[in-house]
Amino acid sequence: MSIESQEHRALRAAVAAFGRGHGRDHDHEALWSEAARLGYLGVSLPEEYGGGGGGITELSIVLEELGTAGCPLLMLVVSPAICGTVIARFGTEEQRRAWLPGLADGSRTMAFGITEPDAGSNSHRITTIARRTADGWTLTGRKVFVSGVDIADATLIVGRTEDARSGRLKPCLFIVPRDAEGFSRSQIDMELQAHEKQFELVLDEVRLPADSLVGDEDAGLLQLFAGLNPERIMTAAFAIGMGRYALGRAVSYAKERQVWQTPIGAHQAIAHPLAQAHVELELAALMMRKAAELYDAGDDAGAGEASNMAKYAAGEACVKAVDQAVHTLGGNGLTREYGLASLITLSRVARIAPVSREMILNYISHQSLGLPKSY
Ligand SMILES: Cc1cc2nc3c(=O)[nH]c(=O)nc-3n(C[C@H](O)[C@H](O)[C@H](O)COP(=O)(O)OP(=O)(O)OC[C@H]3O[C@@H](n4cnc5c(N)ncnc54)[C@H](O)[C@@H]3O)c2cc1C
Repeated sequence: MSIESQEHRALRAAVAAFGRGHGRDHDHEALWSEAARLGYLGVSLPEEYGGGGGGITELSIVLEELGTAGCPLLMLVVSPAICGTVIARFGTEEQRRAWLPGLADGSRTMAFGITEPDAGSNSHRITTIARRTADGWTLTGRKVFVSGVDIADATLIVGRTEDARSGRLKPCLFIVPRDAEGFSRSQIDMELQAHEKQFELVLDEVRLPADSLVGDEDAGLLQLFAGLNPERIMTAAFAIGMGRYALGRAVSYAKERQVWQTPIGAHQAIAHPLAQAHVELELAALMMRKAAELYDAGDDAGAGEASNMAKYAAGEACVKAVDQAVHTLGGNGLTREYGLASLITLSRVARIAPVSREMILNYISHQSLGLPKSY
């Protein structure tokens, strides 16, 4: 019996079959455009703008199953899940019409930039400043580790505006087109084998039209969190998919490989850690489902805790599953032919981004347990 609806099971089965058809050695562009054509990229976006009318639940199923098949699409975390959600929920009618159909059919992509070199995990310290001009805004600042800027038509940049009355800085979201004057990027040399690259960005007095501001200047934090919860849920889906993929490879290997009288999978020293990895991945998946359901039901506050817990649990489960998978393959775990060793680096991403495991534990300590803060 499944606790999922029939529609969700059907979506899961269809994406899983599609993912298996592409696999780990896939052609990224073909995968992206076929996933778009089948409606997978836009599954969470509103129907009236070309989407599937589902929610983060459906989008996370897509990413989870693509990851399980060895072909995750990292930009799903950013383009439809963060940017699409924020524009659908808070954008103007013009912004929705301009962006959502393209994000849904995959013809347009949007990156998301919040991290700054001197702020890091402390996003209250971001200093990218937006100033009003006669006909719009200028944006000045720096961002780091922003994924997919080279392939994105625009980047949704988190900046701050100065409150005219109090002088306090408030977070605000701006759509910055890739070719905007004063907007430059340099690729960071990451130790990651992934199609999506990370960039350092410089915004030097970038002039933007008035309609580049998404949503209300005064509702910055609320809007930001409306995008950040999906980001956490989708990162959990990414991690669970990768963990399941690695586990699947290890289990097949452990059934076949025999160096004594039985396959190595009969030795409990090999079997138990794999069983543990399976339990931990499935527990994380359950919390992810809860987070997605709360989010889709409109409970932003309830989704906050669950999204953080799901991201934490999935990141930890993924790192452990990949580590044990590589170990299960012995020397083959470190060969290029088997392709698992590169996942050791990649699996760490879900521990660090978009919010590190320590910052989630801080959040749970303070918000859920009411413990005092050290910082
Ligand atoms: C592959 C990849 C893709 C990314 N994509 C994007 C993207 O598309 N857009 C974007 O904006 N950002 C992106 N990021 C950035 C990511 O969100 C940040 O790396 C992350 O938020 C951590 O910030 P930092 O690297 O500055 O680490 P720091 O904030 O410098 O933290 C370093 C270490 O100190 C710990 N630490 C910091 N403060 C505390 C504290 N108070 N208590 C306990 N421990 C603490 C952290 O947990 C961490 O282990 C990406 C990062 C990676 C690796």
